[in-house]
Amino acid sequence: MSEQTITARLTGQFSLLGSRKVYNVYLTDTSIKYAPAEGNAKWKEVLLDDVVGVHCMRGKSADDPQVYLSFFVYKRGRTLMGGVDPVRKRQGLTFVVGEAAVFEENLLVADKWRNAIYRLMRSAVSGLRDPHSGVWLVVINPAGGPGKAEKLFRERVVPIFAEAAIPFEVIVSERAGHVMEIMQTLDLSKYSALIVVAGDGLVHEALNGLMMRPDWAEAVRIPIGHIPGGSGNALAASIHEASGEPFRTEFVKHSALLLAKSVPTPLDIVYLETPWYSRYGFLSVCWGLIADIDIESEKYRNLGETRFTVQAVQRITDLRTYSGVLSYLPADSPASGDAPAPHSYLSDAHLPKPSTDLLVPLSEPVSSTWTTIDGDFITVCLVVISRLAASSAGIPWAKLNDGLGYLFWIKAGAPKMAVTSFLLNMDSGSHLANSHVQKVAVRAFRLEPREKDGILTIDGEKVQYGSIQGQMLPSLATVLTRRSV
Ligand code: ADP
Ligand code: MG
Repeated sequence: MSEQTITARLTGQFSLLGSRKVYNVYLTDTSIKYAPAEGNAKWKEVLLDDVVGVHCMRGKSADDPQVYLSFFVYKRGRTLMGGVDPVRKRQGLTFVVGEAAVFEENLLVADKWRNAIYRLMRSAVSGLRDPHSGVWLVVINPAGGPGKAEKLFRERVVPIFAEAAIPFEVIVSERAGHVMEIMQTLDLSKYSALIVVAGDGLVHEALNGLMMRPDWAEAVRIPIGHIPGGSGNALAASIHEASGEPFRTEFVKHSALLLAKSVPTPLDIVYLETPWYSRYGFLSVCWGLIADIDIESEKYRNLGETRFTVQAVQRITDLRTYSGVLSYLPADSPASGDAPAPHSYLSDAHLPKPSTDLLVPLSEPVSSTWTTIDGDFITVCLVVISRLAASSAGIPWAKLNDGLGYLFWIKAGAPKMAVTSFLLNMDSGSHLANSHVQKVAVRAFRLEPREKDGILTIDGEKVQYGSIQGQMLPSLATVLTRRSV
């Protein structure tokens, strides 16, 4: 490539740390290109998309006038077969800015590069709150998953946040319900993002705390980031899946990198109602087999996500069925009201609660436009996002903001072999191809179990057993996804 073909925003001549050669360095809209000023050596390129941060640093000696312009780059490598390895590996790159004899003058040059690069990396996102405009609030569940969330955060996330120059404050959850309380009264104007280092349970608490505020409509728009620190990390896994980032290897590291490069994206929420309370969910409502496995596996909490597999094997041998009525409003039927447009609630920041016009009280029969199935089931699940956990797909084609929930169920009478293969195939996402599994996209649903006892979960947490109904609230919340989504 000749110099003339590069449209550069900045050009400079710097040496590379560890090399005596002088390099011509160019900043383009999407990358940094550099090559030795002498000779015909090939241009090298670092994509801004792979750059997490840029720092201007002083040398070790106080009289060193040079400025070290350091890039923190996390690049995808090549596999042995020549494909792209999705795992990101850290690479350092440091240019030495030293043309002037005075440190301050070199710093002016380096600063200009750093600022230009940050501007290009974090160009404003229209309509939604810019997560990189202020301080992040990090909430950690010390009891999440194998109980290592705090350690994971300090060791694997803080260094990346430092490289990305992200300012943050930390709150460690003291007990179940603590984060929900905090969210109800927190001065949200102090923060530009809320980062949850925990499992889905703490995300659920945070979401519900935000929805309890009088200014819920504005509060729930704070961009939420999820770092997998629990045993069920479905939100983080779904965000990574949507962003094309790895979640099977070095999940925590990749989530920190994702956040460093993140943009806000709308997230669907589901409003849920039981005879006793109402809630907001972002993930799932499960009944029967899937709920049993999730909750009965709590005793293997120290195994992390493996706990689900261990419990699944045990539950198959003792397969139960559950009697009840499942009703739903299919996505493709004309809705009784128009589905709300994204963020249409924002005109009034103090509405008592989001409109749930598709629902009637649980004591009344559902509308005749709904479909109803009365019978015995092995399991029923409503899934809102693509994954139920890092190791199990829920609905692979569910989008973060398609405005839809997805019901799937298995009726009683399905052979054990079919149920086993359903569970085994959840990892790959091919479980829904099973002929014993029914599935439908919905805007609203109702589930009425007949027996008095059983397990019902909302977002993976056990709740009081009984009837439940819900309606999708499209794009009500905001999550942090990778720039490329
Ligand atoms: P996991 O994925 O392992 O279930 P979560 O982060 O989802 O991890 O949290 C599980 C539960 O822990 C949540 O219901 C949350 O309310 C509760 N919790 C939060 N803080 C604490 C604490 N300090 N001690 C015990 N439990 C807590
Ligand atoms: Mg959805």
